[in-house]
Order: sequence, then C-alpha cells, then structure tokens
Amino acid sequence: MTAIATLGSHCSLQILKGAKDEGLKTILVCEKKREKLYRRFPFIDDLIMVDSFKEILDKKLQRTLEESKAVLIPHGTLIAQMSADEIESINIPMFGNKWILRWESDRDMKEKLMREAQLPMPKPVKNPKDITGTVIVKRQGAAGGRGYFMASSTHEYDTKRDNLISNGTLSKDEPLYIQEYVSGVLAYLQFFYSPLMETLEFFGADQRHESDIEGLARMPSEQQLQSKKIPSFNVIGNSPLVLRESLLDMVYEMGENFVKAAKRIVKPGMNGPFCIEGVYDENAEFTSFEFSARIVAGTNIYMDGSPYYSLLFGQPLSMGRRIAREIKTAFESGRLNDITT
Ligand code: AMP
Repeated sequence: MTAIATLGSHCSLQILKGAKDEGLKTILVCEKKREKLYRRFPFIDDLIMVDSFKEILDKKLQRTLEESKAVLIPHGTLIAQMSADEIESINIPMFGNKWILRWESDRDMKEKLMREAQLPMPKPVKNPKDITGTVIVKRQGAAGGRGYFMASSTHEYDTKRDNLISNGTLSKDEPLYIQEYVSGVLAYLQFFYSPLMETLEFFGADQRHESDIEGLARMPSEQQLQSKKIPSFNVIGNSPLVLRESLLDMVYEMGENFVKAAKRIVKPGMNGPFCIEGVYDENAEFTSFEFSARIVAGTNIYMDGSPYYSLLFGQPLSMGRRIAREIKTAFESGRLNDITT
C-alpha cells in the first residue's frame, strides 16, 4: 500500500489524520523543534526528523520516502519556504500538479491564469506613479499577507514602502505588486477537482482573520488616524463561512472555469484541492484577488468534515481524507500517474 507524506506544519494534521482514516501509512517530515508537538498525535506512523524543511530536497531523504511508496502532499509551507525550481526538482510523486505551484507564486503568471479562467479581478496598477484610487500593495509568494499595505497616492505608497524597508520587513529590491483595493465580504472558496472522476466538488468556504487590519477596523476613525499604524494582513486564523445557497451556482461556474483554464495552459491541470479567494460586494458580485493551487489552511476548520461533503458523499469528509481517498482509489486502480506529477 502507498503512504502519505507531508511537511509538519500548515495543515499536516488533517492530511495525516485523513490518510490514517483511509487506512494509509502516514509519514511526517518534522523539524526537530516541533518533535514534541507532533508526537502527541497517534495517527502519525513515522516522523523523519530534519533541521530544516529544505532537507526535503536531499536525494537521500527522497529515497527514504520513495522506499515507502510515499505520495507527497504540498501545502502552503512548502510554497513559502521553497522556490518553484526547488519544488519542481522534488522527485517523489507529488499529489496534484507541481507545475501549477509556480503559477501560484509568480504574480504575473497568477494574473495570466486568472484572466484565462475569466475570473473577475481587481485592476492591477503597473506603476506606483499611476495610483489614483485606493490600492493594496502585495509581496511575492505565499507571504500570508505579511508586509502588505494600502495606499491612496504615489506619495503614500513611497512613504509606507520606505518605512517597511527601514524596519526590515521588506528588502529594497523586492518587486511589489499593486492592485485596486476591493471592499466587501471576504470569501475563500475551497474546491477539489478529481481527475479520476473528472468532477469538481465545492468543499466549503472560510474567512481569514488578519492582523492588524481587523484591529484597526474596530477603532473609531479618529483613533485610527492618531495611531498612524500601517495595518498588515497577516493571517492569524480562519473561521467558517456559509454562503447563501443562491450563490453556489456561480461558485461552481468559477471553479469549473478555473479547472478548464488550468487544463489548457498548465498541464495536467488543476488536479486536487484549490481555493479561489476574493470578496463579495453589495450586489453579491464576486471579485477574485488570488488563488491557491493546493490545499489551503482554511480547510482546517472542517477537520471533522465539510457540510457540503456530507451532502455529496453521505459522510463528513475532511479535505485531508478526500485527498487520501483519491490516492487510495488511484493506487488500487493503477492510476497513480493520473493524480501525481
Ligand atoms: P493575498 O495574499 O492576495 O491572499 O492577500 C492577503 C489578504 O489581503 C486577503 O486575505 C485580503 O484580506 C487582502 N486583499 C488582498 N487583495 C485584496 C484586494 N484586491 N482588495 C481587498 N483586499 C485584498
């Protein structure tokens, strides 16, 4: 039987619990400093201890995983800590499409894929000199919103950028991505595309809680001005969101368009879990500012099972367990190559 392996962070607990529930062997690549934490969980069969997650690039470690017939599940920590080249060089089968992870971390490629999927997007601002309305300024990669800031003029952009450089948050030559700020209700739409069944499933939605934009929003405007704080969008946690049922049809349509676009431009396509992230405005129109091309930490809120999966499968499945089930089915039918890269 095959095994499931992942890095010890982000959503590794639900991934490995889901794998155990499907009867698969579980392996955690664990940083020594986190050993005590992860040993608390009885569903983790093997821990491979490392000083740093970068050791996953080591051929010897990869051979150990290969000997266990492990499938590696990528998540946000892999993307945040490794370059696209490094991820693509990993030689053990990776669940989903490792080539699309480059499209997630490169802002220009990301924009191209979202355009191809016809997702309604905020307007990008190519040059800080062109800032006219309120914009959000973002860093490259899965920075989790850290170091992001808002500005309403070129002068404000320059001042805030300089501040972040002098306090060490940003490096001087880091290219920043500027985009129109869209206000509304945040919604992170979580999907799973099964290449085995060729079906798209809507798993659930969540909201992110970000510090300290939320803290600032709770202050009266006078105190906001006095505090002179540059609020960041650092993700602290997630909470569940249930959408109006009348919005679901559009949710599926966006997911399906995304899957079709990915199939066209980054083969083998958007296999496995992914997330379309954005806001709903006062007319319930969705604008999407991001996607994640792998499992998102927001699925941790449904570790006991997503309500929509109860409707689809007659059983409450977590995203971790859904992934394990796809791998198990592929393994049993000799189709592992169809679900891994
Ligand atoms: P991201 O890294 O793009 O997911 O952005 C992190 C956070 O910044 C999001 O969760 C939102 O709260 C906020 N955000 C990003 N882009 C926009 C936008 N265009 N308009 C409004 N808020 C945004």
